[in-house]
Amino acid sequence: MPQKVICRECGEVMYEGDLLRSPQDVIKKFEGKCPKCGKDLGFDGESVQVKPCKS
Ligand SMILES: [Zn+2]
Repeated sequence: MPQKVICRECGEVMYEGDLLRSPQDVIKKFEGKCPKCGKDLGFDGESVQVKPCKS
């Protein structure tokens, strides 16, 4: 099932797609910060939310 990883702070979608990725991978890709609100996401995955995508 497609999933998306969003910032808990602002709701920015940081990853969306079929490929299952861990939140940590996505956070790493953005160097630990939300590209929109600049929140320091840390690397434990607690600052992001993983949700199923409904198309
Ligand atoms: Zn954000």
